[in-house]
Amino acid sequence: MTLPVVTRFAPSPTGFLHIGGARTALFNWLYAKKRGGKMLLRIEDTDRERSTQAAIDAILDGLKWLELGWDGDVVYQYANAARHREVVDEMLAAGTAYRCYASAEELAQMRETAKAEGRTRFYNGLWRDRDPSDAPAGVKPTVRLKAPLTGETVIEDQVQGRVVWQNDNLDDLVLLRGDGSPTYMLAVVVDDHDMGVTHVIRGDDHLINAARQKQIYDALGWELPSMSHIPLIHGPDGSKLSKRHGALGVDAYRAMGYLPAALRNYLVRLGWGHGDQEIFSTEEMIEAFDLPAIGRSAARFDFAKLENL
Ligand code: GLU
Repeated sequence: MTLPVVTRFAPSPTGFLHIGGARTALFNWLYAKKRGGKMLLRIEDTDRERSTQAAIDAILDGLKWLELGWDGDVVYQYANAARHREVVDEMLAAGTAYRCYASAEELAQMRETAKAEGRTRFYNGLWRDRDPSDAPAGVKPTVRLKAPLTGETVIEDQVQGRVVWQNDNLDDLVLLRGDGSPTYMLAVVVDDHDMGVTHVIRGDDHLINAARQKQIYDALGWELPSMSHIPLIHGPDGSKLSKRHGALGVDAYRAMGYLPAALRNYLVRLGWGHGDQEIFSTEEMIEAFDLPAIGRSAARFDFAKLENL
C-alpha cells in the first residue's frame, strides 16, 4: 500500500515571501494536488530573534493571494519544543545521543586541530563515550548525535539523483543547545515525522542538511521521506538571485498588478519545463507537473519574460 502524499512548505518567517519561497510552495502544492494528497504549512519560527509576526503575515497573505492553500492548521515549530526535547531524551536513553560538556575553548581547539589536519569533521569524540559522572559542575551540556564514524550517508534524491557523503566528514551534530533549545536540524526531522510528511521538496541549499537529517532519522529508526532538492533561482546574469536583480517579494508583483495565475505560471517554469508549452491552466499544470522533470541546473529569473505575461 502506498501512503497518501503529504508535502509541506516550511518557511522561516524572517522576511517577506520571496520569489524562491513561492516557487517552493508552488512545487509542493502541485505535487500534492497531482497525487491527491495534502500540502501542510509549517512556520519555522524557532529562531526567536529573527522571526517576526510581520513576516508570518506576509507569508500567509502571499500564499493566499497566489491561491496556494494549505491543508489543516498552520503548524508553528516553536510550539513543538517540548516534543523535540522529549525525542532527545529518548535518544539519550537509547544511547544514540550523548551529553557534551566541552567548553568553548576545547571546541575552538578541536576546530583548529581539524583545520590544521585538513579534516572536515572537527569534533574529536571527547564526550562521546565518557561517563557523565566526569561532567564538570555548573556546565550546561549540549546534546550531540552519536553520528556514525565510518561508512556513507546516501540520499536518493528525486531531482539530484544519488548523493553520497563520507561519514567521516560529518560531525556529531548538536541536537539540543546548552540552554535546552532544540536545533533547527532536529526540529525539522521531528516535525516532518510527526506531521506524516512523505515528500520533502525544498531548495538545494538544504542538500547538506538532508545528509545530517538522514543520520537523525537513522538514529531514531524512522523512515526518511522522499527527498527533492530543487536548484536555486539565479538572476539573468547567472549569479544567485539577489536584490540587485530587482523586486524579489511576491507582494511587489501583486502591487504591480500581476495576476496570481500569471505569476504562478511564470514560477512553475523556473526550473521545470514541459516541452515548448509556455502557458498552463492550473489543471494542466497539476496534470503535467512531476519531480524528476525538474532540472539540476539553476533556473534563470528573467524579468523581461515576466513583464510579457
Ligand atoms: N525553514 C527553511 C527555510 O526557510 C526550510 C526548511 C526545510 O524546508 O526543510 O529555508
